[in-house]
Amino acid sequence: GEGLPRPEETRVMVVANQKGGVGKTTTTVNLAASLALHGGRVLVIDLDPQGNASTALGIDHHAEVPSIYDVLVESKPLSEVVQPVPDVEGLFCAPATIDLAGAEIELVSLVARESRLQKAIDAYEQPLDYVLIDCPPSLGLLTVNALVAGAEVLIPIQCEYYALEGLGQLLRNVELVRGHLNPSLHVSTILLTMYDGRTRLASQVADEVRNHFGEEVLRTSIPRSVRISEAPSYGQTVLTYDPGSSGALSYLEAARELALRGVGIRYDEHQGYVSP
Ligand code: ADP
Ligand code: MG
Repeated sequence: GEGLPRPEETRVMVVANQKGGVGKTTTTVNLAASLALHGGRVLVIDLDPQGNASTALGIDHHAEVPSIYDVLVESKPLSEVVQPVPDVEGLFCAPATIDLAGAEIELVSLVARESRLQKAIDAYEQPLDYVLIDCPPSLGLLTVNALVAGAEVLIPIQCEYYALEGLGQLLRNVELVRGHLNPSLHVSTILLTMYDGRTRLASQVADEVRNHFGEEVLRTSIPRSVRISEAPSYGQTVLTYDPGSSGALSYLEAARELALRGVGIRYDEHQGYVSP
């Protein structure tokens, strides 16, 4: 990869939005692959019982495979479930199996039920630059575990009607977790997904999101692209499926922005990327 500044400490990013179909999983796997291609060491944690992130990364996740369920419910070390992602150096995945659907209930009666993922990540000894956690479309104990484990929340927003609806509840949960369980938690990044700049609606929604969130919104947005939606059925990210496509290039650029922000470099409309 071209090489970008690496964070001093592992950045744990929670990809969350309780709406389904807004691009959480797509963003998790493609940003993770982009960060790895830029030279980072990246772990994807699949926290959705559907296991879509595992599938998209070409990771075996049939019922017998050691998975994040075993980590959360059976206290298995994370290192025993992590698999290398084929074809992308520096990229790893802790897969989700269908067992995880039961974890939401099983966790309720366990000690430290909200901080089991955090403990597992803290005990993981391999060096990592980024951990990206793909959340299910709900605000239950799985998502709470993610919010306790990470400092940064990344919210993908699809540019359509009602884009901001329902976000209030996620933001309130972030506040609650910050107040009680994880003082460092904050919404660091908003990414506009499936953006079609030709429609007025998309640009209106984008303006609305930028007015509402300001600085947190990445300058790069992700276009709607058939190549992005095709890649998972080949067990690939768009970065290896069609590296020259607009979708691949936009995720690489979003990853660059994210990495530079991590070391304090932000994009300025007049000057480009500027150091503090
Ligand atoms: P979530 O994880 O929030 O439920 P997904 O990432 O699974 O959302 O995306 C929902 C659907 O939209 C999937 O079929 C995915 O392939 C498709 N999709 C996501 N991002 C894009 C994009 N930029 N262009 C085209 N299709 C996309
Ligand atoms: Mg998903």
